[in-house]
Amino acid sequence: MKSYFRPEIDAMAGYVPGEQPKMANLVKLNTNENPYPASPRVREVIAGFDHAKLRRYPEPMADTLRDEIAGVLGVKRENIIAGNGSDDILTMTFRAFTAPDRPLACLDPTYSLYFELAKMQGAPVIRIGLDPEDFSMPENLLEQAADANLLIITRPNAPTGNSFDRERMRDICRKFDGIVFFDEAYADFAEDNCMEFATEFDNVIVSRTFSKSYSLAGLRLGYAVGNPKVIEGLFKLKDSYNLDMLTQEIGRAAFADRDYLRECCEQVKATRAYLDAELKKIGFRVVPSQTNFLFAAPPDEDGGNYFRRLREQAIIVRYFPGEVTGRYVRITIGTPEEMDHLLDVTRAIYGK
Ligand code: PMP
Repeated sequence: MKSYFRPEIDAMAGYVPGEQPKMANLVKLNTNENPYPASPRVREVIAGFDHAKLRRYPEPMADTLRDEIAGVLGVKRENIIAGNGSDDILTMTFRAFTAPDRPLACLDPTYSLYFELAKMQGAPVIRIGLDPEDFSMPENLLEQAADANLLIITRPNAPTGNSFDRERMRDICRKFDGIVFFDEAYADFAEDNCMEFATEFDNVIVSRTFSKSYSLAGLRLGYAVGNPKVIEGLFKLKDSYNLDMLTQEIGRAAFADRDYLRECCEQVKATRAYLDAELKKIGFRVVPSQTNFLFAAPPDEDGGNYFRRLREQAIIVRYFPGEVTGRYVRITIGTPEEMDHLLDVTRAIYGK
């Protein structure tokens, strides 16, 4: 049949999210969800929500939520835009800053959605290859990215889990002639972040999500911080009511519970350190992680085989085929019990 799609759309593979299987007794460690429930305040908001309110449209600009986030970050409402997950923020960003004559530069490997969004725009992609040994950034990153209009730095990076020197990031913000977008989906599990660059520089956007540290992947909420002119431009590109009323209320409750967030992240980080140490005892190579997952290469460096063997035992992790990434699997940090089960199965696979 003749295609009526734009050629850019025909050329897209379409983003394939991690699988969400419905097997019984599944240990699901493939999409970096939080093993703990969201703040109890979220339950209270849901229980007390008056359904009659849904008659009305939600706040189109999510002003109340933005004010509360701005208050905690010490910025203004005009510095913030909220989205239906940080994927929504990324979609607006690509619409705004990429086109056939406005290339994207991003790391490789990184979050694969960027490549699909670039195709949607018909925008060329400059892939900045990370060192295959330790996934560090090349020295000449700025030279490689020079022709790009948008540079996405995923920090900490996914699926590798490592981060990059913060002062180097500041230098990149200062020197790059274009928008620097820090995707900080995992920053709450990291040692530091680049949030202050969002107001220090005119050309910087920093995005965050409620899907990981706030345990609200099912809600779909994210936000970005930047210069008011940049944020105003993104607002032109958002769906008219991109955040429903309940999401805005739940997000506010979760965001306000700072103590709960901190405790939850500390627990995940402690479990991460445990899994890291135990996998190394079995002979794995583990990339130092600042996220809620580990990128780990089994003793035989065959990630695909390990992925399949775990799957036979109803443990689902994420495997990224490829010459470098194919040596590894990405394992989401679950509860200590889930990690012990994973470790028992892993020891049996490798005869340890
Ligand atoms: N950025 C990165 C690096 C991610 O790994 C993810 C999760 N898949 C996202 C953004 C999107 O998260 P969400 O849309 O759930 O906020």
